[in-house]
Formats: sequence, structure tokens, C-alpha cells
Amino acid sequence: MTPVPPGSTIGIVGGGQLGRMLAMAAAQLGYRTHIYAPEASGPAADVSAGWTRGAYEDGATLRDFADSVDVITYEFENVPAEAVSLLAGLGHVQPNAQALRIAQDRLAEKGFVAGLGGRTAPYAPADSRAALGTAIAQVGAPAILKTIRFGYDGKGQSRLMDGAPATLDRAWTEIGGQPAVLEGFVRFEHEFSVLLVRGHDGEIRFWDTPHNVHEAGILATSTVPAPAAVLAQVDEARAIAAKVAAALDHVGVLTLEFFCGADGPIFNEMAPRVHNSGHWTIEGAVTSQFENHVRAICGLPLGSTALVVPAVTMRNLIGDDAADWRAILADADSHLHLYGKHEARPGRKMGHVTRLHLERD
Ligand code: AMP
Repeated sequence: MTPVPPGSTIGIVGGGQLGRMLAMAAAQLGYRTHIYAPEASGPAADVSAGWTRGAYEDGATLRDFADSVDVITYEFENVPAEAVSLLAGLGHVQPNAQALRIAQDRLAEKGFVAGLGGRTAPYAPADSRAALGTAIAQVGAPAILKTIRFGYDGKGQSRLMDGAPATLDRAWTEIGGQPAVLEGFVRFEHEFSVLLVRGHDGEIRFWDTPHNVHEAGILATSTVPAPAAVLAQVDEARAIAAKVAAALDHVGVLTLEFFCGADGPIFNEMAPRVHNSGHWTIEGAVTSQFENHVRAICGLPLGSTALVVPAVTMRNLIGDDAADWRAILADADSHLHLYGKHEARPGRKMGHVTRLHLERD
């Protein structure tokens, strides 16, 4: 491809904190950014030159947005398929529409990864209350029912400890009676993610694998290096992630989340974008996930993904956690990131803090 040179404008669909950090990395390389989002404002607004408020169904506004930018990317993948097709038809969108379509459908992504040889939890589709009865007979209990679309941070999920009809009724109601997938409950010691960037020429670079701890379905911490049990599974997880990236002809950052299972890595889900478990790369790696995403989608050479210190931890600041900003700043090895959100609600990601460890613990 002809590179999109510094000085050009990058369109970003979605205006949250991922868009904010992408826009900051883009600005460092001399790009301008323009956000497209249904909201009037958001964390990316403070740092982007342009903001178009528009619905994802609004073809005319999407077209004007596409005309005003040189390349388009996403910080939010739950964009309706029609909007993705429309933007893809108008020009240069990276990652491509296929990556988005698969990653926004839990059933499709599991089938896709399994088809490439990846291991998944046992799963079955449950697109009606009746189908849920069949699914639990196949998968067994305990299990987790997850909506196929629009789930994030543990939302749109319900846990089933048994297969009794009343339990199935409750779970079906809890997820709002939407098409879902039932997954067998995986017993795992650890969760981790594979973060990679793939360039236009197919070159892939991996960052170190973070060990991720979730609390109430929301990422709490990411730590590098991961424990030995995770490191023993990284090669296999990277091999499947590389296959996924190549099969999708993905350009940009791609994140695959895994459980560290007894027999090897178990794929959970993927995101065709920069990811919360990669925020530590801003200070902890030579080139951050945000900068390498910009480099990849603009056709520039990729930067090194090497660690710059022996160990790094990233902690999300959720709800009222961000009120501790003074104490965080008092620790000279910590880097505070606040997303500029005005209202701290329980479960809302308000910022994160990355601590560089100059020695391994
Ligand atoms: P997800 O939205 O799929 O990332 O799920 C949120 C969190 O719930 C995961 O990070 C796990 O901690 C937990 N979880 C999800 N699926 C399963 C599963 N099949 N078995 C056990 N825990 C799970």
C-alpha cells in the first residue's frame, strides 16, 4: 500500500479511552484524528481535532466522515455490520470488515479459532429459551450464558450452577432473552492475553504476554512477566493468534484472550483492536500498542515491542479508585492515566496506573 504519511487525518470510530490513547499516539507521529461516535462527547474529544456525532445507521453522516479522513480505524468493534460494510466500501478501513464481523460475534469467533486448531471451552448456541435446554444437555453445568453480541466487561452474561428449568429461566431472563452462546465453565489458574501487531506486509510482532486478573468480570490488573504456568503456554497461544491474524489478513493490533487450562491455552475471545490488557505498553515497551496500531494502519514500519524494564504492572482505576490520584502520584515509579470522565460510576473505567519495576520481584 501507499503509506498514509504524517500530516494526514486518521478517522477513529468510537470516542472512549482507547480512542483517546490512539489519538495521543497519532498526534506524536504528526497525525490529526477525527472521531465518529453516537455520543455528543467522550474521553477522545479532549485530544482529537474533529468529532462527528452520528448514529451508526446514518449513512449520509458516515459518508461525510469517511470523506474527511485519510484512513479509518476502530476503537470499538460493536458497530453494526451495515455501517462496517458502508465504510469499507468507501475506502481504506483497517482492520478490515471481516475481522470486525467475526470478533463481534462470540459464536463466530469461537468457530473461527476452533477451525484454525485452537482450543475453546465446550460451547453450544442458545438463540431461544428452548435451545438453551438443548445447549445445557450438550455442555453440562456449571456454565456461562453470554449474549452473542454487545457483551463487554462481564455484561450480558449469566452463570448457571445447574441445569434446572428454573435456573435456565433465570439466566435467559438475565441476559434479556437475546441470541446467546452457552459455554462450559473452565477451571483455570490464570488468564492471559496475546497482544500482537500485524503490518500490511504480513509482519507480526508480539508484546510480552500479560497475566490478567479480572474482578466481577472486569479487568483489574495486567502483569508482565506472567507466571511460569502461563509462559509455558505462550508459544502455543501465539501460534494460534498468528494463524488468526493471517487468516483475517488483519492489519493493526489484535488481542486474543486465553485461559491457562490444564492441557494448554483455551481461547476465550478476541478483539481486533488495541486492548485494556495492553495499556502497560505505553511506558513498559519500546513501542506502545497505540503507536504500533497507528504505524500498521498507516503502512509505516513497525516499532520494537520489547520490554524496557524487567517487570510492569497495570491496574485499572474503576469507579472511585481514581479519587486516589494523589497517592498514586506519590509513587515515583507509577504513571497515572486519567480518561477525563466526569462521573465515577461503579464498574466504570476512569483511568489506569502503570508501575515500572526496575527489578524483577
Ligand atoms: P468475557 O466477557 O468472555 O471476557 O468474560 C469475562 C470474564 O468471565 C473472563 O475474563 C473470565 O474471568 C470469566 N469467564 C468467562 N468465560 C468463562 C468460562 N467459560 N469459564 C470460566 N470463567 C469464564
